Amino acid sequence: MTTGTVYLVGAGPGSVDLLTLKACRLIGEADVIVHDYLVAPEIIALARPDAERVFVGKKGGGFCCPQRDIEGTLIRLAQEGKRVVRLKGGDPFIFGRGGEEAEALAEASIAFEIVPGVTSALAAAAYAGVPLTHRTHASAVVFLTGHEDPLKPDSTLHWESYGRLGATLCIYMGMKNLGTISQRLQDGGMSAETPVAVVQSATTGDHRQLLSTVGRVALESEHAGFGAPAIVVIGEVASLAGKLSWFETAVSAGVREWSVAP
Ligand code: SAH
Repeated sequence: MTTGTVYLVGAGPGSVDLLTLKACRLIGEADVIVHDYLVAPEIIALARPDAERVFVGKKGGGFCCPQRDIEGTLIRLAQEGKRVVRLKGGDPFIFGRGGEEAEALAEASIAFEIVPGVTSALAAAAYAGVPLTHRTHASAVVFLTGHEDPLKPDSTLHWESYGRLGATLCIYMGMKNLGTISQRLQDGGMSAETPVAVVQSATTGDHRQLLSTVGRVALESEHAGFGAPAIVVIGEVASLAGKLSWFETAVSAGVREWSVAP
C-alpha cells in the first residue's frame, strides 16, 4: 500500500466564498477531513459524503486533543494510504500550529503540502474597512498573539516596545487579556487616543465590529459583549473603519447576503 499525502489547508476566516480554489478542490477529493472548531460547517460540507470527518478542535480553552495526538492521527491516516486534508481556520502557518504538524510529517517521511488561507487579520480588516497599510498612516503591520499571559515573567512579547513601533498591530486571541495589553502599550508610549477596531466573527453572519481607542477598548468591548473569535486592530488606520465599514453597513441594511455558497 502506498502512503497517502497530508494537505495542511487554510480554510480562511469563515465565509465559504473566501476559500481558495485549491482548498475547495482538495476538500472535495479528500478521504479524511481533520478539522477544528473555527472551520465553518458549510466548508466541511464540501467534503465527499463518504469522507471520514475527524474533529480535533477546542474552543476557548475547552476540550482539546493534545497536539501530539493530532500529529499522530495525521501520520497514521497517511500510513493507511489515505488522502488527508487537515483543515485549519485562516492560514495554517499563522497561529495555527501548522509548523509543528508539518515538522512531525517531515520527520515521519510523510508527503505533505501547505495550502495558504486568508488569515483572519486580513479578512477582519478588509471586511471592517481598515486598510492595514496606508500611505499616510502606516507602513508596517505586525501580527501578534494576545493569548500569552502578558504578566508572566517569561512572556516573549514586550508589549511596551510595540507601543512605540508606529505600525498597525493585529492581535489574535487577544480578548481575554485586552485590559493588560492595552495598558502595557500605553506604558510603552502609545497614545490613549490611538484608534482600535475590534472585529468579531469577521466575514460570517455573526460579524460584529466596534471602533474605540486604546484607552477605552477593554471596557467598551466588555460592555458590548465582544469575545472570541475576534481580531483587535490597533493603529491610526483603524479610524478609517468609520467611513469604510462596508460589510456591517450592508448586512445591517439587509442589502447583501453575508455568504455566497460556491
Ligand atoms: N490560523 C488562524 C488563527 C488561529 S488562532 C488564522 O490564520 O486566522 C484563533 C484566533 O484567530 C481567534 O482567537 C481570533 O483571534 C482569530 N480569528 C479566527 N477566525 C476569526 C474570525 N472569523 N473573525 C475574527 N477573528 C478570527
